[in-house]
Amino acid sequence: MNTNINTRNSEKVFPSGEDLEGAAQNILIIGAGLCGSLLALRLGQRGYNVTVYEMRPDLRKTDISAGRSINLAFSDRGNKAMKLVGIEDKVKDLCIPMNGRMIHDKEGNTFLSNYSGRDYEYINSISRGDLNALLLDEAEKHENVTIHFNKKCKSVDFENTTALFQDYHTKNEFIEDADCIIATDGAGSALRKSYYLGKKFLFSFSQDYLTHGYKELSILPTENGGYKTYKNALHIWPRGDFMVIALPNLDGSFTVTLFLSYDEGEYNFNNLTTPEIVTEFFQKEFPDALELMPNLIEDFFENPTAPLGTVKCSPWHYKGNTLLMGDSAHAIVPFYGQGMNASFEDVVEFDKVLNQNLDNWEATFETYEKNRKKDTDAIADLAIDNFHEMKDHVGQAIFQEKRKIEMMLEKEFPEDYSSKYSLVTFNEDIGYREAMLKGRAQDKAILNMLADGIISISDDPKDILDKVKTETEAILEDDRVAKFGPS
Ligand SMILES: Cc1cc2nc3c(=O)[nH]c(=O)nc-3n(C[C@H](O)[C@H](O)[C@H](O)COP(=O)(O)OP(=O)(O)OC[C@H]3O[C@@H](n4cnc5c(N)ncnc54)[C@H](O)[C@@H]3O)c2cc1C
Repeated sequence: MNTNINTRNSEKVFPSGEDLEGAAQNILIIGAGLCGSLLALRLGQRGYNVTVYEMRPDLRKTDISAGRSINLAFSDRGNKAMKLVGIEDKVKDLCIPMNGRMIHDKEGNTFLSNYSGRDYEYINSISRGDLNALLLDEAEKHENVTIHFNKKCKSVDFENTTALFQDYHTKNEFIEDADCIIATDGAGSALRKSYYLGKKFLFSFSQDYLTHGYKELSILPTENGGYKTYKNALHIWPRGDFMVIALPNLDGSFTVTLFLSYDEGEYNFNNLTTPEIVTEFFQKEFPDALELMPNLIEDFFENPTAPLGTVKCSPWHYKGNTLLMGDSAHAIVPFYGQGMNASFEDVVEFDKVLNQNLDNWEATFETYEKNRKKDTDAIADLAIDNFHEMKDHVGQAIFQEKRKIEMMLEKEFPEDYSSKYSLVTFNEDIGYREAMLKGRAQDKAILNMLADGIISISDDPKDILDKVKTETEAILEDDRVAKFGPS
């Protein structure tokens, strides 16, 4: 096994595209997934010398999507990043609008619950592969961006700003050197592992798994390429302790995901071991979905079952040498449809800090983390909340009543009211933390007042709005007092 050392370290001076001598700064990015390819594009646009190493083959040439969330919910925070790099229109061509959740009950009845009372607010289904390919194409248009595939990062020497890679084909190892290294290598990050194992500084790290895992299935297109069920919705079959969801693809198919406990309940991943039991489970719980999925058994036993977890850590950076971004810094469970959007927003926030022209990379990384971490912690917690909301609450009468009230308020008072979902998903100009605090207080206010009979959907809308606002403010004030004491 050979280990070559490629030294490309230039004088560390200034976090703009060039240092004081006018030489471009060399930035090494680990991982060319969604965050890494966007980051490479943006830093390429800003004039940095960018080298990206990706462990997998080039997805534009090889089909490597099997079993890995084939499509994703893409929304306004992600779109803000696309605007930043000037590819909003190209991304729009890949999107299928989803206006709301189509809820399927056990009897096969459906009802559509819109995501917002404002018609122009909706989320989109987008193919992970198509979006990643577009970002790679756009990044590679810049002469100063080079992307290498089939090169796996094994570890990072964060004190010396070098990373050790292995070539998938030759198995040769080599070391790369840069002015700074940014890891966008996802939930299992090699840089994060090096921080943790290195024990050179106080690195805090937590990884919390849900007791539920997920498996991807599919609804195939009709014979003439049409959609077998309503196209413009995110379909949900909520069943209390587990659920199935489906998002549309451009080819007429839907990617279906089953979220289920590994070992609890009558049916779980550990006991769904034969075609008969799987069919029985779907017949009992999701009969209308089963009708659309003659391929269920094949998908079920071919596709992997994967775990779901939340990763939090700090600090994200080591001096001005290395930085974690995207899932490598903050992996979250997928129930708010925000992991990718948050990772894209990371790039927008990082770009803002670069605009400040701070003295060096250390100040840049420090400021970025200080600005950003509170928001990624918030979306991690919101995503767990939404797990319970989607599998359980959406099917409960009081939550449906609350949703109706919120829809009405958003329709009647589009400038004055946004639900928690809207604040998180469609209000990209406020941070996740602010959206969480306000949204949770509103939820509590509406649910309490519904339970106490203080408001009902038949009341005067303006009266409901005033009561919700007053009660929300009172709850926020209580929270402030509980945190800081009376002022
Ligand atoms: C089931 C599921 C559904 C989801 N649905 C949504 C959704 O609807 N909306 C949404 O916004 N988000 C969703 N997400 C979250 C989203 O997938 C992630 O947040 C997003 O992919 C993060 O991007 P990333 O670039 O940070 O990491 P990744 O997309 O994981 O990319 C990391 C890249 O680094 C590469 N890599 C890894 N290790 C190494 C190494 N050692 N050396 C070199 N390269 C390496 C990988 O091959 C990969 O290309 C979902 C996630 C799951 C699991």
